[in-house]
Amino acid sequence: MSFDTLGLNSNILDAVKAQGYEKPTAVQSQAIPVALDKKDILVSAQTGTGKTAAFVLPMLQRLSQDKKNAGTHLLRALILVPTRELAMQVGESVDAYGKGLPFKSVKLYGGKKISTETEQLERGVDIIIATPGRLAEHIQKESVRLANINYMVLDEADRMLDMGFINEIRAIAELTPKGRQTFMFSATFTPKVVNLGKSLLRKPKIIEVARQNKTADTVEQKVHFVNSADKSDLLAYMIGANNYNQVIVFTRTKDVTDKLAEELTAAGLPATAIHGDITQAKRTKALKQFKEGKFRVLVATDVAGRGLDIKDMDYVINYELPSVAEDYVHRIGRTGRAGKKGLAISLVSAYDVAYLLEIEKLIGLKMTEIKTKGYEFTERIPDRSEQHNQRDRRKSASIRKHTPKKEKPKSAAAAPKKVKQTKRNRFGS
Ligand code: AMP
Repeated sequence: MSFDTLGLNSNILDAVKAQGYEKPTAVQSQAIPVALDKKDILVSAQTGTGKTAAFVLPMLQRLSQDKKNAGTHLLRALILVPTRELAMQVGESVDAYGKGLPFKSVKLYGGKKISTETEQLERGVDIIIATPGRLAEHIQKESVRLANINYMVLDEADRMLDMGFINEIRAIAELTPKGRQTFMFSATFTPKVVNLGKSLLRKPKIIEVARQNKTADTVEQKVHFVNSADKSDLLAYMIGANNYNQVIVFTRTKDVTDKLAEELTAAGLPATAIHGDITQAKRTKALKQFKEGKFRVLVATDVAGRGLDIKDMDYVINYELPSVAEDYVHRIGRTGRAGKKGLAISLVSAYDVAYLLEIEKLIGLKMTEIKTKGYEFTERIPDRSEQHNQRDRRKSASIRKHTPKKEKPKSAAAAPKKVKQTKRNRFGS
């Protein structure tokens, strides 16, 4: 199938060609015709599938068809996203795909002056890309009116719900016209996502691009068991010895993120860190410098890593596995994007084993084990009751949600004891 057959206008087709896209991805070829047919859609697609163009292109086409309001910059399209990074990324896509069109857009998210956004809103915009929290602030200040929204997108709905935005989303939707067209995108169809979908979408067409919680087939997934104390050495060795350029390393907490970036830099691998406590300006700068190749490694927490669009990313390393298994799917979505090959390696110490088991269950795949001479795994695997305790801690952590402010430092008490083991199977039991 080619883009020409999807029913998009020539301006949009030119913009798509300028991006170098040859043919639509699976989510694009399935979603665009349905969207142009003015139907609601519930799409299960992970990042890296080309999902952004799947909702931005038909949105631009629908705006172009609205001759009555041509040139008025009346606010008609709303895209809700969970994080500022994703807002910036989607905003860039709106600019790129809408290059030949007369629409104005604004990105609304925390971490920058609200007055600048208000001024932009006052000058008139056709499209808003916003995090629910910041949009709610604008609604309170009456700097935004949603009465003419006829196209609403909820991107990464599962993540927005995880971040506790349910009330804001419902309140925002209430202010938009009932007759609007609504798109909901989510990497996973959790019961919460389905419930929200039921209340916001009308007879939606359901599109599942990849099986629920499936990781992209183009990503090779490997696991390296390693003692906690050897992790950072092994990481530096792996990146150096394999000559990995441009690697994203994921951690669970901001403290580990900063420390690891320092250690890698000291080991001769220029690294920068991003997490929820780093100001927006610094995050943007770090990301820009990483993209430009000034840093070889970007160390990120899940909150900050969400929504990063870094093209040609070949390697993702999980220095610590995420405490929420679904986050693994998002993490490795940074690589193997739009059909490119990628490699994801997880460094697993004794206390990560329980996380690994949950992730493998979720993705329905047993990762291939790799080993490195000199980094033999000798830690004792915690017994069942210790693992249960860990799971309980994880559940409470997940209940606390992972908003930027709430990233928890790793407990020193959780460090496993180093006990020499002679014989073990994969999980040492
Ligand atoms: P997304 O899933 O929207 O984050 O997109 C992932 C990446 O795929 C982005 O870098 C897009 O620029 C790229 N992309 C989107 N659509 C296509 C396409 N049809 N062909 C090639 N690359 C694409």
